[in-house]
Amino acid sequence: MNKFYCTMCTVECAPIKKKDRPKNVPLCDECRNKVLSIYTKLVMESFISLSKEDLLKIKGIGEETANSFVEFFKDKNNKQMLIDLYNSGVRIIN
Ligand SMILES: [Zn+2]
Repeated sequence: MNKFYCTMCTVECAPIKKKDRPKNVPLCDECRNKVLSIYTKLVMESFISLSKEDLLKIKGIGEETANSFVEFFKDKNNKQMLIDLYNSGVRIIN
């Protein structure tokens, strides 16, 4: 059986499932968590910076929701609150 090595730190790691190849690269748990953390942060930062026009392109978001969202994040304190929550370890899980 083939051995898999983490792409980032080169330690041996669990094999990636055949169905996930080749789009996924092998990562150890520690590096996977680092990547997920960076990814989540980028998604969160992009999310709070969405414009009304961007929001209206999302299925299920109408004029009223888009306006409320934009109004809420216009306030720098609200933006900062979300960033602070993120930095203290709070995660939104689907
Ligand atoms: Zn690693």
